Amino acid sequence: MVLYTLGGTIASSDVDGTGGVRPSLDGAALLGLASGALGDLEVEVVGVRQVPSGELTIEDAVELSHRITHDLERGFDGAVVTQGTDTIEEFAFALDLLSTSASPIVVTGAMRHPGELSADGPANLAAAIRVASDPSMRGLGVLVVMNDEVHAARFVRKSDSASLAAFASWATGPIARILEGRTRRYVSPPPLARVLEPVRPGTVVPAVALATCALGVDARLVEHLVDLGYAGLVVEGFGGGHVPARLVEPLTTLAATMPVVLASRTGAGDVLASTYGYVGSERDLLGRGLISAGFLDGPKARVLLSLLLATGATTDQVVTAFARLHRSATELA
Ligand code: ASP
Repeated sequence: MVLYTLGGTIASSDVDGTGGVRPSLDGAALLGLASGALGDLEVEVVGVRQVPSGELTIEDAVELSHRITHDLERGFDGAVVTQGTDTIEEFAFALDLLSTSASPIVVTGAMRHPGELSADGPANLAAAIRVASDPSMRGLGVLVVMNDEVHAARFVRKSDSASLAAFASWATGPIARILEGRTRRYVSPPPLARVLEPVRPGTVVPAVALATCALGVDARLVEHLVDLGYAGLVVEGFGGGHVPARLVEPLTTLAATMPVVLASRTGAGDVLASTYGYVGSERDLLGRGLISAGFLDGPKARVLLSLLLATGATTDQVVTAFARLHRSATELA
């Protein structure tokens, strides 16, 4: 088993005595806190970053994914990544899109730092290591383990700012739970289609903007994206994928020059395709060249679009990739 540490609350302490915690504990210290629950499992530790997870980038995920692939090929049976929970849903999904290994890759973190009562980091780490060393968890894609639940990276979202039960997967719920020291699996997500060409470490990931519709929103942001150097846009529309009529022409113009992906700001459920017929509806926007995010929320759609653009994908290839990924993930239905 190999453990990669990137910082976050799970590794945070008040090192400066200021009263505020920041990432500071290394992997050996994290393992020390969880050691009582690890038995004779052997874990090799790799310190990667020591940051709040808002500092992580898609480039970091590319680098780490290569390292994990290399280490799994060397013979490790699984990999665990610890990081801040603020961006787990995106970082784990990036690893999922990039990973080519069937061995379990499990991402975890903590909602309470080690100095708090009932800190959850040690239990989360022990559970993540248990899941990553369980052969029955192979081939399920990248997983996120929090609060004794196992979530598929493709669906999971941080849905609460502070609760220990902050992580939820709208489509399936947790696919497994840790119960009495064992992993019990209830759902097997179908394999995600491999929609990315290889992304080499060091590749520059083009900037993709994420814009959320809100009551009375105007078009200024959309109109300036090209000048600002963005290579793509994910727009989180209202409900099933709707925007005010005043955004339609600017979005249409933009979609002729760069991929514009339409997601829903609701955070759950697919983008609609064929229900509403008004200007700014999902039918209207998809007919004007916007690309459906399918089941992906805005942040996850942005990860996919960014990685596709990093591989030099054309807009047509982006359309195909989003559609293939959506079909592969919804096979259960
Ligand atoms: N701010 C922290 C981070 O994402 C929160 C956490 O780890 O839970 O790094």
